[in-house]
Amino acid sequence: MTFRDLNLKKPLWNALDDLGYNTPTTIQSAGFNVMISGKDTIGIAQTGTGKTLAYLLPCLCMWEFSKEPHPQILIIVPTRELVAQVVSEAEKLTTYMNVAVGGVYGGTNMNTQASMVLQGLDILVGTPGRILDLAKSGSLQLKHVKKVVIDEVDETLSLGFRPQLLNIFEFLPTKRQQMVFSATLSEEVSMFLDEYLIAPVRVEAARAGLPLDKIDQTGYRVPNFLSKITLLRHLIQQTETSSKILVFVSSRALADILFEEIEASFADTIGIIHSNKGQNFRFEAVQKFQTGAIRILIATDLIARGIDVTDVSHVINFDIPESPENYIHRIGRTGRADKNGIAITFVSKKDESALLAIQELMQQQLLFTKVTDDIAFTNELLEFEKPKVAIPVKAIKSPTNENKGLSFHEKKAKNKKVNVRYDHKKAMHEKYGKPKKKRQK
Ligand code: AMP
Repeated sequence: MTFRDLNLKKPLWNALDDLGYNTPTTIQSAGFNVMISGKDTIGIAQTGTGKTLAYLLPCLCMWEFSKEPHPQILIIVPTRELVAQVVSEAEKLTTYMNVAVGGVYGGTNMNTQASMVLQGLDILVGTPGRILDLAKSGSLQLKHVKKVVIDEVDETLSLGFRPQLLNIFEFLPTKRQQMVFSATLSEEVSMFLDEYLIAPVRVEAARAGLPLDKIDQTGYRVPNFLSKITLLRHLIQQTETSSKILVFVSSRALADILFEEIEASFADTIGIIHSNKGQNFRFEAVQKFQTGAIRILIATDLIARGIDVTDVSHVINFDIPESPENYIHRIGRTGRADKNGIAITFVSKKDESALLAIQELMQQQLLFTKVTDDIAFTNELLEFEKPKVAIPVKAIKSPTNENKGLSFHEKKAKNKKVNVRYDHKKAMHEKYGKPKKKRQK
């Protein structure tokens, strides 16, 4: 099957030719007819399986020229990096179409984005918060939206984003086609989708939650942070210089510590990205990793989803991910576009339950590799790893009422005064006796 077999518009075929794409991927061919029929769709697909084009192609086929300057197609994604990526894909596909594409996201000046939106857009890609702010401010009109795509839906619909998303729905016309995509679908999000999608058709490129076969997964038992650094250094040194290594760490603070520890060893070839970094720094880090200017990127789960960096050869889970779904998303950054990938996970004693959850979701055991003798682990723990010492609380007997005793000084004379309320009725009663009742005439 080629793209000519899909009922696309000529400008789209031309753009695909320019990109050198001939054959639709599974999700692209399986999803096309469902989406073009106007039905609500749930697409289960890893990034790297061509899911962005899978929804962009039918959306662009259904797009109609309109004099209205307001978007017809709304694409909601969870991160700023994904906004940039989807905008870039949409721009490439619309080279031969008169379609204006724009991206909006938080952390940058809203006025600049508002004026871009006011100039007129056909496709708007954005993160939930900023879309909502623009809609509330009146710069963005959503009543002409016909197609809504929610990408990485189980992240975009996670509790953090949900209120904003529900609020966006209120600005949208009730008659709209909705398409949602993700590699994983938690039960909770499935229940939410049941409520918001109308008789959705499910299209799957691979079974939800299963990693791609092309990814070789292995685990290492490592006792603590410093030992993990030793092993990481060793593993990186063993890889070829052409390899691209994405290292996931559980928090921004730990990412910073790790970066400081190993930056010197890998000089200009290492970078870092997390949500505490400025937006330009973040875009630049992904860009440098994409072009190969750096070959090691230390990251938090900020870029676990959706980000498409060419030729990531290794994903190293320096810390095991907290949710098993994120394991699937993280390792899905490698083994893309028919390449093979290697996923390595460091597991310490406290990670056993997280490991079990991952194995259950994948329906397979993680195989472990033994650490060779030349790698010396340490027992030393960094401050944050040390078990918290409970401070014994000294039992202090609280004073009871009986022990209270008298107040320690005498009241001043003025404070001894007792306020007496003058009761006129009572005084009259005492002076003249009981009042006589008026008799009825
Ligand atoms: P995605 O899953 O949307 O992140 O896409 C992963 C990568 O595959 C992107 O770089 C796409 O441009 C590329 N891609 C998407 N569809 C195709 C296709 N049919 N043939 C070749 N490459 C594709």
